Amino acid sequence: MKTYYIKTLGCKVNQYESDGIAAGLEQHGLIRAKTGRAVDVCIINTCAVTSKAAMQSRQAVRKLRRDNPDAKIIVTGCHVQTAPDMIRQIGDRVQLVSHQDKTRLARYLVTDPDPFPLTFIPTDHSPENRFHGFTHPVSGSMTRAYLKIQDGCDAFCTYCIVPHARGSSVSMPQDMVIHHVQALGNAGFKEVILTGIHAGRYGRDLTPPTTLVKLLETIQDKKPVHRIRLSSIEPNEIDDRLADLAGPDGMVCDHFHVPLQSGDDTILKKMKRPYTADLFKEVLWRIHEKLPFAGIGVDTLIGFPTETDAQFENTYALIEQLPVSYLHVFPFSPRKGTPAFSFTPRVSDAVITHRCQRMRDLGRQKRETFIRANQGRCLEAVVQNKTDTRTGRLKAVTSNYLTLYLEKTPSLKGTIVNVTYDRWDKTLNISGELYHGKGL
Ligand code: SF4
Repeated sequence: MKTYYIKTLGCKVNQYESDGIAAGLEQHGLIRAKTGRAVDVCIINTCAVTSKAAMQSRQAVRKLRRDNPDAKIIVTGCHVQTAPDMIRQIGDRVQLVSHQDKTRLARYLVTDPDPFPLTFIPTDHSPENRFHGFTHPVSGSMTRAYLKIQDGCDAFCTYCIVPHARGSSVSMPQDMVIHHVQALGNAGFKEVILTGIHAGRYGRDLTPPTTLVKLLETIQDKKPVHRIRLSSIEPNEIDDRLADLAGPDGMVCDHFHVPLQSGDDTILKKMKRPYTADLFKEVLWRIHEKLPFAGIGVDTLIGFPTETDAQFENTYALIEQLPVSYLHVFPFSPRKGTPAFSFTPRVSDAVITHRCQRMRDLGRQKRETFIRANQGRCLEAVVQNKTDTRTGRLKAVTSNYLTLYLEKTPSLKGTIVNVTYDRWDKTLNISGELYHGKGL
């Protein structure tokens, strides 16, 4: 029996794809090793979103190659697509696998000779680009399963390397999405998280074209799983129909993760983001009015070139006044190959660090306000399968994206429960309990 080790860097889409590769290898009899030593195959699924992630990706390739002198070293992912020569230079035995070949990697590794050898293919931005999905349902080791329904992006925001890595926007056909969600539901998953690079563009490339809302309505009609969560959605792609699907009668979680990046219109324009601060404000209040307890997470990108103190304050003030429940704060990272790489003047590292800290402090306040607003309410949650190693308790994730710690009760693992809470500690860890009242 051959063994393999897989190292994943980057986002949830990469994690999903690594889980898909792993499931394929296991179907072909390979055994997953827990550590990257003395294995037959090493796979490194790289990330390029920041220069740090790219550097860590190369380090992982070097280390696994050094520790496994006889192993096949397979390198795939966004850093391979955007800087193939840097990966090749690492040394011999390093084989690059393009993004679109991830789904047939397992067959390639175990079937010899393969009729379609893997050769590196640059990122495809042509209209002929198509969705490359795993035929087998991918569940990974999570209690809540991810499903990639869309890939690629045509937006080319000026700071973002992702379109250069993943090509034009392509979608998993709708019947395939239903098939995968049904299979995950049948396997006992209570929640499926629909993910993509630009999920709001879902369906535009399909024949006939469709939309994310239509897909969600179809899932809702068939109810193949208890609930659906969206991983991220652009502000200009949230409409009333989408918000209604997250209402009391819908099966979409009342949780929206919305990238803002900047709250200053001049910076938004330089970033090539297709909305204004006013539109963002209007969208968030509209969600909040319909769904007052919805979790609303916001991404911010701090220290974009030319961002002045006043422009940063515009972002800060916008978020401060909005019903935001948590923040993700990213410092600007210049990526070669993107327009913003050459925008000047750049903001100094010290200023970026200071602004990020202020933003994180604001994020903490927002989180605490949201926790307080939900205190004593009955919340629906999925209980994780694994006991949390740090606390020895069970984690449960609510529909509106709060994480609660419950006393360890093995029979609850993987189930849907009603929970409530009235305590949390200084680090905002919430102690929850089962709700025995009248229900939701
Ligand atoms: S929408 Fe913009 S930030 Fe998001 S993946 Fe596309 S180019 Fe990158």
